[in-house]
Amino acid sequence: MSEHIYTIPLNDHFSKHDGCPLCSLFDMLEKNEIETITGASMMEPSVRVKTNSEGFCHKHFELMLTVGKRLPIALIMQSHLEEIRDKTKKKNGKDTAKFFAALEQNCYVCNRIKKNMDSIFSNFFHLYKNEKNFRERFLSQEMFCLPHYRELLEYGQKFLSKKEYDVFAKELQEIENRYLETLQGDIDWFCKKFDYRYKEEDWKNSRDAIERTVYTLTGIKIKKEENE
Ligand SMILES: [Zn+2]
Ligand SMILES: [Zn+2]
Repeated sequence: MSEHIYTIPLNDHFSKHDGCPLCSLFDMLEKNEIETITGASMMEPSVRVKTNSEGFCHKHFELMLTVGKRLPIALIMQSHLEEIRDKTKKKNGKDTAKFFAALEQNCYVCNRIKKNMDSIFSNFFHLYKNEKNFRERFLSQEMFCLPHYRELLEYGQKFLSKKEYDVFAKELQEIENRYLETLQGDIDWFCKKFDYRYKEEDWKNSRDAIERTVYTLTGIKIKKEENE
């Protein structure tokens, strides 16, 4: 049944038409994970075993500290530090470097989100293949951020037949290329506006072209600079 647990969120987020729908699903998962780890799961022994060995990335420590209480987070840190010291005290320099290289790439929250995103992609292709309405929702998307565009193209190879994949890739590439062309036009116009000949012209849709380009390239939203 786990195959279909994201049917409703997928339909919801693909109906929003507000940026990349997979980013907004990612944000939903991230919010859930941060709320759980700073709430109910915090003192759970089986979770603590994992947070002790996996640790957290900078982004997720920061998010935990914005929503969670400081003492429970300090307790997580306390046993995580103990485990790090315990595991490295007998290692030589080379193995210690290896240990920390792996730890830097690890994060309990990132790992949980990754696992759930796998199910989201699996559900996505199930809906894409079987639900006409969902397929239309997919086709009506304005854009995907490039990391999720790439992931759709990668996961598609896993969940679709060769023939289905070719159709899907073409549909997706059409959506993305159309958007990238629009974005290109907006950035072009933004640059032109700094030329005195275009000074009096309208900004058209280019005022936030920089912010939208960063979002498209990275999947990360930045705030608009208010300085012109
Ligand atoms: Zn995205
Ligand atoms: Zn993380």
